[in-house]
Amino acid sequence: MSGSIRLFVSAPLAEGVEVQATPGQAHYLGTVMRRATGAPVRLFNGADGEWQARLTVIKRDRAVLAVETPLRAQAAEPDLWLAFAVLKRDATDLVAQKATELGVSALVPVITERTNAERVNATRIIAIATEAAEQSERLTVPRVAPLQRLPDLLVHWPAGRTLFAAIERAGAAPLRPRQGGSAAALLVGPEGGFSERELDALRARPFVVPVSLGPRILRAETASIVGLALLQAGD
Ligand code: SAH
Repeated sequence: MSGSIRLFVSAPLAEGVEVQATPGQAHYLGTVMRRATGAPVRLFNGADGEWQARLTVIKRDRAVLAVETPLRAQAAEPDLWLAFAVLKRDATDLVAQKATELGVSALVPVITERTNAERVNATRIIAIATEAAEQSERLTVPRVAPLQRLPDLLVHWPAGRTLFAAIERAGAAPLRPRQGGSAAALLVGPEGGFSERELDALRARPFVVPVSLGPRILRAETASIVGLALLQAGD
């Protein structure tokens, strides 16, 4: 089935169900991809696995898909979050897309002392993550957490989840693959790095493990990609 269109929908999926596409999906199917009635489309919704469906109605801003047969059962995804200092728009977009391809279950945008942005376009991040999930054959779209300040993130940190904090120039131990898919998160700072105060706050927390990503100073977006790949190298 490779090459066929794959769409994330919010409707329940089961044999015989009819799913209404969003106007954006209808535009994509009909106008962009030039699909006609009868065209196969794969659907997933994050809960019911992946299904083979077929286009039964295609108009400019309306499409209906008839769900036919199951293709893949829903399976657990890696329990890995990416917490990242918000970057300029293009870099944030890149991080959302690549982190989704790399399997994260949650994107957690963070404001740090040296973060320039005070807001993040959550709708845009969700749209990018959804497209990346469709393209990378995931069965879920990562959750996008509300924007929060680093001290709040640390105060409300969930028990049992290790936070690997990427810290350059500090002689931290190299990041190694996590063991047995245990609950974890990667934290990457802004272009200006973490402040001394933030570094102290991170080091004071028992769930934080400072890690190095090698001898070179990476752009924040590179650090996110490399860190997520390294953490999962043993999965
Ligand atoms: N301006 C800072 C660099 C910040 S790089 C300086 O000159 O020191 C942006 C973020 O990427 C950092 O906050 C860190 O989380 C991560 N990062 C970049 N290179 C890294 C490395 N070699 N090891 C660990 N983390 C790194």
